[in-house]
Amino acid sequence: MEAIVTLSQIYPAFFYGAVFVVSLMVGSFLNVVIYRLPIMMERSWKNEFQHYFGDTENNNDIPTTNVQIEPFNLVKPDSTCPQCGHRIRAWENIPLLSYLVLKGKCASCEAPISIRYPFVELLTAIACTFAAFRFGVTPQALWAVLFTYVLIALLFIDLDKMLLPDQLTLPLLWLGLLLSTQEVFIGTTDAIIGAAAGYLSLWSVYWLFKLATGKEGMGYGDFKLLGALGAFIGWQGLPVVILLSSFVGAVAGLLIMFIQNKGKSLAIPFGPYLAVAGWITLLYKDSIILAYLNLVL
Ligand SMILES: [Zn+2]
Repeated sequence: MEAIVTLSQIYPAFFYGAVFVVSLMVGSFLNVVIYRLPIMMERSWKNEFQHYFGDTENNNDIPTTNVQIEPFNLVKPDSTCPQCGHRIRAWENIPLLSYLVLKGKCASCEAPISIRYPFVELLTAIACTFAAFRFGVTPQALWAVLFTYVLIALLFIDLDKMLLPDQLTLPLLWLGLLLSTQEVFIGTTDAIIGAAAGYLSLWSVYWLFKLATGKEGMGYGDFKLLGALGAFIGWQGLPVVILLSSFVGAVAGLLIMFIQNKGKSLAIPFGPYLAVAGWITLLYKDSIILAYLNLVL
C-alpha cells in the first residue's frame, strides 16, 4: 500500500492511469448494478406485498409466497446473452476490449450487444480520471472517484426506471456526512446544513407544486439525492446545483426535442440532471461561486 502511495507521488501518471483502469472495471460492474438493482427492488416489493396482503390470485390457504425462485443479486446468476442464454465467459467480460474484439456481437448467436455497456465503462473511466486530476494525488481524489461511481449508477437507473434507489442515495448521504468529520471536502456544519437544506428545499417545492397543480413533479428519491449532494458540497453549493441542473435540463431537453424532432412532452426524470450538476459542483464549486460573484458585484 505504501509502495503504491509513494509511486503515485513520484509518478502522478501512474496514479491517474490506475484510476482509469480500475474505473473501467468498476464501470463494468456498474452496468450490472444499473440493470439488476431495479429488478432486485421490484422483486422485494412483490415479496413484501404478498407478505402483507397475501397472493391475490390464489386462495390464501395455499402458501405460495415461500416458493423461492433462484437467487438474483449483484453476483448471481452469471451474466448471459438475453438472446440465446449463452453464458458470458471471463474473456468476453473484459471492459471495452471484449466489446471491440467481439465487434459488439454475442460470441455465440451474434445478437448485437448494446453500445450502452462500453459507453458506461468508458464514461466511468473518463469521469473518474477527470475528477482525480482535479484533486491531484490526494485522498480527496479517491473519495471523488467513489462519489462519481455512485452518481453514474443513479443517473442510469433513473433514466431507465425513473427510480433513485435508497440503497444508493442513503449510503452516499452517510458517506458525505462522515467525510465532513475529517473535513475531506467541507466541514461538518456545512455538510449537515447542506444535507438538511438539500432534502427540505426539494421537499417544499414538491408539496407547493402538488398543492398548486395536484401533480407530482418529482419523487422522494430526488430529495434524498439532493440531500446527499448537500453533504458533499455544503449548503453553499446547493444554489449552484439547482442552477446547473436547470441549465443541464434545458440543454438536454432542447437536444432531445431536436433529435426526436417532435414537440411531444416526454417525462424526463430529474435525477440525472441533479447527478451531473452535483458532480460538476463538487469539482468546481469555488470557481463557479467566484465567477458568479465577479459577475454580479
Ligand atoms: Zn447470444
